[in-house]
Amino acid sequence: MTPRTAYRYVPRTIRHTSEAGATFEAHCPPDRNAHSGLLATQEAARERAPRHTGRASHTRFRQVMTDHARVSRDE
Ligand SMILES: [Zn+2]
Repeated sequence: MTPRTAYRYVPRTIRHTSEAGATFEAHCPPDRNAHSGLLATQEAARERAPRHTGRASHTRFRQVMTDHARVSRDE
């Protein structure tokens, strides 16, 4: 007897959802511990970068924005 698997195709859609908000971060690549932490606005994350540049003379930052999506079954 051969095992069999049956798959059922269920169409689903993934969409941006604003109910969980978004977070913003700025990281200094040379300093693993130098990051802004999770902040509510991109401006707040960007404010941290010039301060770090003044202290450490690092001028390049990685910016991260995270938002949320919801998967729903298509009707
Ligand atoms: Zn740095």
